[in-house]
Amino acid sequence: MRSPFMNSVVKIFPLFMSVAFLSGCESLQSVDRGLYSAAEAVSERDLVTGQRTLSMASRGQQIAQGNAAVEQILAEQKKAGKKTNAALDEKAYQRVVRVFDRIHRVSHLANERWLPVLIDDPSFNAFTTGGTYIVVHSGLMKDLKDDAELAAVLGHEIAHTVANHVFERQTHQTAALIAGSEAARQGGYQAAFTHESEIEADKIGILYAALAGFDPYAASRIWERQYKKEGSAKGLFFHSHPVNPERALLTRNVANQVKQYYHDGQQNPEAAALLDNNALWRKGSESVEAGSGGGLSAILGTALGAYAQHQGTKQEASRQAQQIQMMQALDKQVVVVGEKVIDQHSWQVVWENRSNVSLKDVVMGVLIKDSTGKVSRYVTHVAGNIKPAARFAGSFTLPDLKVAQLQQMQVKYYLDDATPVR
Ligand SMILES: [Zn+2]
Repeated sequence: MRSPFMNSVVKIFPLFMSVAFLSGCESLQSVDRGLYSAAEAVSERDLVTGQRTLSMASRGQQIAQGNAAVEQILAEQKKAGKKTNAALDEKAYQRVVRVFDRIHRVSHLANERWLPVLIDDPSFNAFTTGGTYIVVHSGLMKDLKDDAELAAVLGHEIAHTVANHVFERQTHQTAALIAGSEAARQGGYQAAFTHESEIEADKIGILYAALAGFDPYAASRIWERQYKKEGSAKGLFFHSHPVNPERALLTRNVANQVKQYYHDGQQNPEAAALLDNNALWRKGSESVEAGSGGGLSAILGTALGAYAQHQGTKQEASRQAQQIQMMQALDKQVVVVGEKVIDQHSWQVVWENRSNVSLKDVVMGVLIKDSTGKVSRYVTHVAGNIKPAARFAGSFTLPDLKVAQLQQMQVKYYLDDATPVR
């Protein structure tokens, strides 16, 4: 399932996106120790906090490797006869360049020469590969409402490189292989690791947006909109990205903290000093304690809770596993009791809550598999508190599909999200 902001790791290093299920993470603490001794030899100070982050590649090597990956994508686009940048969409490209320049100027990597690239791809996505390119899909430009939302996306992407996520992930993978750890290779752990990288990138990116004079609440607006559109799919997957409602809340909390630095349309005159010390982090020189996690994540705390890197990843993986179990148990107890066609493209479903808890914030989803095997997912939000034994209705509208066609397809309803109330 594609999400916005899906970063380079997915596209460039599919090796690291193995999908597997979690069985246990007992060995993570020893992995952490292993990483610590690896860090002795290969660490560098991370740009945001001055703390150690893992990397086996120097920045120069990172740029060469990251940029080669983007250049390969550009060559493939050209071969496929696709246009890029101004030739693709002059207005959109100018907008990317203009907003990017303002964000980049206040970032930790302002001294590097970066190049934004607009490519022809309908999905809602932008990514970096750890070098000095930032790639924006044309589909993203169509769905964004204003410059502040674009600034939120671009800030988030620069932040992935600043926080060394692409290469940190490679190094984690290598170290885990050396340590012979099963846990770190498993999907749950990998997803949780990315999950935290996403939160870090959100924090840093929203600070950049505020310093550059863009509304810091734009990121949370994007996630609220995503939630309305696609629900959260909590019951279905381990999440490499925080689920939409959670991310809307987290980004709103960050905005609350950095709005003090935001002057509409203007760069904050103290921007450079604020990069080191601000409401989110303080540049320090504390050493990383072996076995207790460290790296950039040690800066987290204020609004987001403790997400120290490895411990946090472990906790996050088990939290997700619990949540998935709970949703799957509830899913069996929310039963379809009726279906009714509304018009050519819409139909209504009635469910019954056969669990012994009330449910609120209910999102019901439907998976539709067509004859080619392609699966599409749609959601409907249900208002109110649904008591045990109560029935409730939701409707789906598919502009590109006639309800009658569904008879030839596989249709499966599921509980996408819910908050149990006891
Ligand atoms: Zn990201």
